[in-house]
Amino acid sequence: MDLFEYQGKQYFARFGIPVSPGGVADTVDEAVAQAVRVGYPVVVKAQVQVGGRGKAGGIKLAKSTDEVRQHAQNILGMDIRGHVVHRLWIERASDIAHEYYASFTLDRGARLHLGMVSAKGGVEIEQVAAEDPGAIARLHIDPVKGLSEHDARHLVNEAHLDEKARSGAVEILLKLYRCFVEGDADLVEINPLVLTPDGRVHALDAKVSLDNNAEFRHPEWAEYRATEVLDEREKLARSKGLQYIGLSGSVGIIANGAGLAMSTLDVVNQVGGSPANFLDIGGGADASVMASALEVINTDANVRSIFVNIFGGITRGEEVANGIVQALQRVEIKAPIVIRIDGTNAEEGRAILKQHESDRLISQPTMLDAARKVVALAGAGTAEARR
Ligand code: GDP
Ligand code: MN
Repeated sequence: MDLFEYQGKQYFARFGIPVSPGGVADTVDEAVAQAVRVGYPVVVKAQVQVGGRGKAGGIKLAKSTDEVRQHAQNILGMDIRGHVVHRLWIERASDIAHEYYASFTLDRGARLHLGMVSAKGGVEIEQVAAEDPGAIARLHIDPVKGLSEHDARHLVNEAHLDEKARSGAVEILLKLYRCFVEGDADLVEINPLVLTPDGRVHALDAKVSLDNNAEFRHPEWAEYRATEVLDEREKLARSKGLQYIGLSGSVGIIANGAGLAMSTLDVVNQVGGSPANFLDIGGGADASVMASALEVINTDANVRSIFVNIFGGITRGEEVANGIVQALQRVEIKAPIVIRIDGTNAEEGRAILKQHESDRLISQPTMLDAARKVVALAGAGTAEARR
């Protein structure tokens, strides 16, 4: 679960990471009230969970009430790369001598934590990562041993931060690592971490992504759930208890079991298609869960064809086929469906589907055949689909 900047800063503050004083505002008047409380000059910051707010005009300096009013008016309701601004964070403006970058994340491949620090922080960090990766110092950390002060100092030295910033940065890195581990985050990122002209180091932005698996030991995360940004498809899926993740492609995916669902995404990609979602309907595949799954996929305007990929285990093929047929009687589907059933009693299942076969309901014997068919129906127009 991703946090908004203001929530991330509150999270940071719990671990003693210095942030600027500020407050949230949902209206222009609240923005002015917060600015008066915080003291001028202030920065008016759009709260959306997408990077590049500064470049998009969502971060503005204000020296007076008139300026706060004007910027708040412009930024509230602004669309930043598909995210509409409903909330602002008003904070005391900082003077900046240098902008750095610092983060901790999980390196799944290495099975270690990864710390990154750069002296080239700020709004161009993606470009730095692409064009000058050497400017980002990296350190793998054994999660059992944790981050020592020596490690943190090494990272800061490797990154060539200005001398004046080094001890402050080391202190922040140690706190940021504690925030990452004890705070159960997948990612904690400060960009920019700034050095002020009077020699203080603090966090000017906050990106925190919490590990959903740790939610059981964080009752206080309920307040973040309450403001979580879900798209309409994800909201509906959650209300129906489905394991669904929205993606941006045109092939709707329904599979039973997370592993099979992921393999289905892979095979669709492999034949040149693009999945519209991940959806795991779990072990069984009865009519009601299938109907719920189809309903969620139906709300996705990008979907042009649907791939139902079921492996019968305890649930037998004919039960799965009957479930699909019944679900189709309940839900009117906008896109054609390609079904692959395998596993226990697959033949019986396919025989049932055969009776209902049409150009809207197509059964295929293998996962690859089904993937080719569904991608062709989506009209992906790729080499593989044209074959
Ligand atoms: P992002 O564009 O979404 O990453 O938003 P940030 O919060 O990182 O702000 C973008 C940029 O705005 C920063 O890199 C700074 O250059 C600038 N900025 C943000 N806050 C302040 C501030 O308090 N004072 C000054 N002078 N610049 C700021
Ligand atoms: Mn930033």
